[in-house]
Amino acid sequence: MIEFRDVTVSYTGTPALREASFTVGEGELCLVVGPTGSGKSTLLGAACARVPHFSGGLLSGTVLVAGRDTRDHLPRDLADVVGVVGQDPLASFVTDSVEEELAFAMEQLGVAPALMRKRVEEVLDLLGLAPLRGRALADLSGGEQQRVAIGAVLTAQPRILVLDEPTSALDPGAAEDVLAALTRLVHDSGITVLLAEHRLERVVQFADSVISLTPDGVAAAGAPAAVLAHS
Ligand code: ADP
Ligand code: ADP
Repeated sequence: MIEFRDVTVSYTGTPALREASFTVGEGELCLVVGPTGSGKSTLLGAACARVPHFSGGLLSGTVLVAGRDTRDHLPRDLADVVGVVGQDPLASFVTDSVEEELAFAMEQLGVAPALMRKRVEEVLDLLGLAPLRGRALADLSGGEQQRVAIGAVLTAQPRILVLDEPTSALDPGAAEDVLAALTRLVHDSGITVLLAEHRLERVVQFADSVISLTPDGVAAAGAPAAVLAHS
């Protein structure tokens, strides 16, 4: 579902990501780990076509998502392929309530009301948000807000979900709720997830595969146990 072939990204001469080659299969949750500055955000940006189109980075090699070459597509053309969730859910919200937020993207796309209601229900169920449906976004906890932000991206039905440290602003309990919701999501919907996290121990139990980055390049990629044995 995601394939990097010998991908190097440079912003100002020094590569931020070096010669990365790996594949992530459909329905896998792949964890990207590494210290700050090792290129996690750059790798995620490359997977959703923000790099090279919007980052100023120079990309060599090939990135394929669901068989499409990101070089030939702007991020908005890949909205049905890759959805992106950032670190700060509040910054991503464009409405005031849970249901409005989940419906917003579909309203913009002109999705028929009946289908829109059906998808909102599905996403509320998938992420355990049904009890919060009428609530104001500002009154939710950080973990609840992050689940709504994930849900809002899911309503576009992307085949791949990219998350850059989605739990970094959360306390451990809330972080675990978000990760458990993501694992259920992968299991129930078969979506492919690429997730960056610098606290390995939080996430590794949920991962099908791990890509371990260092400032010198990809240290290891593969099954969690094999990668951990390397690092
Ligand atoms: P992370 O929290 O994943 O470590 P960073 O703080 O490294 O993320 O990066 C956050 C944002 O700032 C990203 O969009 C990244 O592209 C951008 N960024 C990081 N370093 C630089 C830099 N040296 N110059 C310009 N933009 C940068
Ligand atoms: P991480 O997410 O692991 O912290 P990043 O991909 O954000 O790593 O950054 C990798 C390297 O690339 C860092 O040295 C960072 O400063 C640099 N970098 C990231 N984004 C940009 C950017 N938009 N412009 C210039 N340099 C950047």
